[in-house]
Amino acid sequence: MGVLEDRLPENILFTTVDKFLNWSKKSSLWYMLFATACCGIELMQTGASRYDLDRFGAVFRATPRQSDLMIVAGTITHKMADRVKKLYAQMPSPKYVIAMGSCANTGGPFYKDSYAVLKGVDRIIPVDVYVPGCPPKPEALIEGIMKLQERIMEKKTLVKK
Ligand code: SF4
Repeated sequence: MGVLEDRLPENILFTTVDKFLNWSKKSSLWYMLFATACCGIELMQTGASRYDLDRFGAVFRATPRQSDLMIVAGTITHKMADRVKKLYAQMPSPKYVIAMGSCANTGGPFYKDSYAVLKGVDRIIPVDVYVPGCPPKPEALIEGIMKLQERIMEKKTLVKK
């Protein structure tokens, strides 16, 4: 602290506006309660007491209007794709997407033989983090959320366009 040492009361921190805003965003990732197949069971497990996602500031919401994170957990069929796009559009910005599991990443085990399954959710909405696995374990999803938090911390909010 140099010249400021011992001249300020306790509990004062210095930071940049960007860092403060990013810290606020990464510490309150409210994810939409949304699962379409077996990966959803792992998502529920991650949110439950054993893995306790709440400690990262990530709590689930029952509506897209209160969510800033969509975790796509499960297979997305072409029939479902429009609904996913609509849900994403209803989320307020800034908003983020994690593709959880092989189905959300690429179509997974249905990639080759199914005419009904979307070959990756990034074909319809932007994805920030991909979590591999079939299904990914809760530890993997937590790592994905931590990666997203790292990416959020790198963002520049106060940049002239
Ligand atoms: S990636 Fe595997 S576990 Fe997840 S929804 Fe697809 S088939 Fe189920």
